[in-house]
Amino acid sequence: MTVTVETTGAFEIPKPLNELSESEIVRKAHIGRVSTEVLRYLTDALTGRGFTWLLPVIFSKSTDPLWPDPGASIEKRVETEIYGETVRTTLSMIIHKLVASSTAYPRFFVLSPNVRIEKRERKATGWHTYEFTQLDFEIRGAGSKDVKRLFEAVIAGLIRHAKKQARRDLTYLGRYGSLKAPVTPFKAHDREDLMAKYGAEWETRLPQEIREPVWVTNIPREFYDFEDPATGRWDNYDLFVPKYGEVLSGARREWEYGRITAKMERDGVKKESYTLLLRMAKEGKLKPSAGAGIGVERLTAWLAGAKHIGEVQAFPKVPGVVYDL
Ligand code: ATP
Ligand code: ASP
Ligand code: MG
Repeated sequence: MTVTVETTGAFEIPKPLNELSESEIVRKAHIGRVSTEVLRYLTDALTGRGFTWLLPVIFSKSTDPLWPDPGASIEKRVETEIYGETVRTTLSMIIHKLVASSTAYPRFFVLSPNVRIEKRERKATGWHTYEFTQLDFEIRGAGSKDVKRLFEAVIAGLIRHAKKQARRDLTYLGRYGSLKAPVTPFKAHDREDLMAKYGAEWETRLPQEIREPVWVTNIPREFYDFEDPATGRWDNYDLFVPKYGEVLSGARREWEYGRITAKMERDGVKKESYTLLLRMAKEGKLKPSAGAGIGVERLTAWLAGAKHIGEVQAFPKVPGVVYDL
């Protein structure tokens, strides 16, 4: 998706640390403190609710296919060979999440670096980087409602926390007054209704229309999101915030071998890239779950009122731009 980020004046690509003026260094430091409170609050909120905190992986034989997804825009997939085997850098840890939540970690999260070489024109969305971090979590036995209610509470709590603990920073950034703890539960829209209202551009139009975060459900995409065979509806959910756009994506999951393989065949996803997942599913070892991933930089950019998502990265990774560091 493409998003017009709230910005006045000319669009500016974030500068590297060594090129910042003194006032830009002050601004960067304020954003850094907002980011710290985001991480502190989210990790406390989840560990406090009984989540196990796992560390991320970088190289794997299986990663997110990121296909089919109408919004996907990957210029290059990074693969390399180690010890005679082909591995890929993490596009998302979704496959690991399905396996982990089915076995030793029924309720966990991970701060997971994702490498997605987005098409270079995505520099102009202000909302994409080619390295970012997802706070990715999965809950065995959960449904969509559980995840939505949990994250409504977490987002509202985060805003209250940030306004208290990062008051000076948000004030400097001009965001203290406009940032309000949202009313819960959030409204939910079916993607089909949004298509009827806004057309194919709904992902960019919706953020311009809303004043509070909203859920969007029933979005056709990768095999692992649950598709109800009776209705054809997808049991998934994305969270959109005003002016910026999507900050979280998640779903209830498929776990049955026959359904997963049928979807892979339908979508042209290579089964040989998902050997372990399919073996577990065939043996009945994959368990029903639901979860989601939050883009940490996007969430921080929204809270801080950043001009470009790269502004919240100490070392920006803007599509099409390779900095020295
Ligand atoms: P978009 O449609 O905005 O390109 P996506 O739907 O392809 O994003 P997901 O695969 O759903 O992204 O990734 C999960 C979350 O990770 C997103 O909701 C978002 O917060 C974050 N994210 C995805 N791609 C990027 C990116 N290139 N830069 C920063 N954050 C991202
Ligand atoms: N993290 C997302 C999820 O949990 C998947 C993705 O990144 O595409 O559904
Ligand atoms: Mg998404």
